[in-house]
Amino acid sequence: MHKQRFLSFFYTLILAAGVWSCVNAGQITVDYIDRDPVVWNLNYPLKVSFFGAFVPTEYELVLMNGEKAIFLTNKKVIVSSTNLTITASYPSYLPYPLDERLMLKLWVPAIKSNVVTAVLVQDMSPPELKVIAVSPEFKKGGSALVVFEARDSNLKKVIIKDNAKKEFYPQPYICEGYYMCFLGWYVKNSDYAAWIIASDEAGNMSTNKIPLNTKDVKYLVGKVELGKTFEKDKTKELGLPMSNLQGIDKYAYYREQMLEKKKVNIPELASIHPEGIVEMFTVKAFKPLLKWRVTSAFGKVREYFFEGAKKSESIHMGVDMANEPKDTIYAGNGGTVIFSGYNGGYGNTLVISHGMGIYSMYGHCTELFVQVGETVYSGDKVGTTGKTGVASGDHLHFGMLIQGVYVNSEEWLNPYWIKTNITQVLDKAKKSIKK
Ligand SMILES: [Zn+2]
Repeated sequence: MHKQRFLSFFYTLILAAGVWSCVNAGQITVDYIDRDPVVWNLNYPLKVSFFGAFVPTEYELVLMNGEKAIFLTNKKVIVSSTNLTITASYPSYLPYPLDERLMLKLWVPAIKSNVVTAVLVQDMSPPELKVIAVSPEFKKGGSALVVFEARDSNLKKVIIKDNAKKEFYPQPYICEGYYMCFLGWYVKNSDYAAWIIASDEAGNMSTNKIPLNTKDVKYLVGKVELGKTFEKDKTKELGLPMSNLQGIDKYAYYREQMLEKKKVNIPELASIHPEGIVEMFTVKAFKPLLKWRVTSAFGKVREYFFEGAKKSESIHMGVDMANEPKDTIYAGNGGTVIFSGYNGGYGNTLVISHGMGIYSMYGHCTELFVQVGETVYSGDKVGTTGKTGVASGDHLHFGMLIQGVYVNSEEWLNPYWIKTNITQVLDKAKKSIKK
C-alpha cells in the first residue's frame, strides 16, 4: 500500500520533469557557485554546488580550455529547486590542459546558454610540510613547542592531531607559511605521537610526523587527609546551614554541594584556539607566589581521606604551592581573565588566557582581584591563596592548560625549562624563517 503510493508519487515527479524541460531563460537564475576560483586536482573527481532557482532540465558542466570546450557531464542531472550538486571526472582519454586560462561553466542546452562561470585553477600537488624547530624533550604529562612550514598555493587547513585524536590548532607565525604550536601530552595517555596534517582547496593532503623526543615519567600516588576543620570550613564557605549530618557521608555531601556551584568546565573554556598572524611571542617562567614550597606535585594519583576513610581518588592536574596563609598571587605573564569565581572542588578559581592556546589557572583562592574580560600584566596581583573547595590547608593550586589539555605546570615554573623548550626553539625558528 505504502509502496504503491510512493511509486505513483514518483511517476508524477517524472511527468512534472517532462513538462518542465521546456524551459526558457528567465526560469533559471544561478546566484552563486560554492567557490570561485574552483581549485581542482584533475586526477580526482570534482564536486561543485550551485545555488539559485533551478528547474528540472539538463545541466552540463563544461571546462573551457581557452576556446575549447571539454564536457565533463553529458547526462540529465538531478536538481532540487535551490541547489544543484555535480560530481564530475576529467575524461581519461584527454591529455590534461596546459592552458592557464581555464574556466568552469554551467551550460543549459535547453536555453543554449551558460548560467554561471567560474575560474578554474589546476592544483595537482599536496602541501609541503617541514618542521623547522621543536622542543628537545617532551615529557609525559608535559608541554612541547613545534615550529613548522606549510606551503601550498591554495592552502585550506593546517592542524596537528595526536595519537589520542586531540586536535591542536597552529598559530601563523612571523610570516605567511610559518606556524607555531604548543602541544600538551595528557598525563593519562601512556605514549605520545603527533602529526601535522595540511590540506588544500583541491583536496590534496599531506601528513608529517613531528620528530618528538618523548620521555616517560612515573607519577606517584599520595594521600590527602582532609583535616578536622573541613566540615566547619565547608559549611561556612558554601553558605549551608550548620548541618546535623548523622550517619551520612559528609564528604560526599559537601562535594556534591561544591559541584552544584561548578560554573564552567575549565578544559572546555581553555580550548579556544589562536587566530591571526603573530609576529612576536615571548613567555617567561610563571612565579605565582614570591616564594613557595611544593606541597603536592603534578600528576600524583591522590586518595582523599576524611574521618579516617578513603573518599575519592583523582589525578592531580596542577601543582600545589604554599607559603603564608592568604599569600598574594601574581600573574606571571600577561593575558586576559577568562574565568573568575567559585568552581566546584577548585573553590575560588581564576583562569587566564595568555594567547597561543596557553592558559594558567589558580585554585582554592580566598580572594580574586580580577574579573572576566580584564587584561592582566606580568606582576599584577590577581588574588590570595586559601583553602576554598576540596583543600586540606591554605595553598595555591597552580594549573596550566594547552588548548584544553591540563599539562604539567611545574615545567612552566622552571626558567631553565622555558629557556630550552620555548625561547631557544623560537630563536632557532626565527633564524631559519628570516633567511
Ligand atoms: Zn592542587
